[in-house]
Amino acid sequence: MSENQTPFSSGSLRGASRGAVVDHRLARRSLIIEFKKGRLRRDQVCDAHPELMRAARNFGEETKITCPICEQDKLVLVTYVFGPRLPAHGRVLSKPKEAVPFTRGNDQYTAYVVEACRSCAWHHLLRVLPIGGRRRKAG
Ligand SMILES: [Zn+2]
Repeated sequence: MSENQTPFSSGSLRGASRGAVVDHRLARRSLIIEFKKGRLRRDQVCDAHPELMRAARNFGEETKITCPICEQDKLVLVTYVFGPRLPAHGRVLSKPKEAVPFTRGNDQYTAYVVEACRSCAWHHLLRVLPIGGRRRKAG
């Protein structure tokens, strides 16, 4: 399998479809079921972007959840923030408290919480949270 050369962006996060209302948990569940039934190959579900894998290894917050695909490793959570004055590939939060400055301003940011497996490269978006944008909320 050739390495994914697409620049990293929020579009690299599986499940992050713009404008559509997506139940991430439902989408995740159906992918896992399809994989277990043999309708999806492992390389179709374990295709995390190299940037996501790097973030998972360096900043991933370990969970107690075993990877549903390889069942060899614990999943980690990686939080990305996208928004004004941030690079197109977003900012990875290495600690939850790093999100605090984004909540204080008037600018609207979006946090993407992604689960990833450091062993097999499974990944899926878990949550999308709007943060910040105080002015908009008040007005
Ligand atoms: Zn795995």
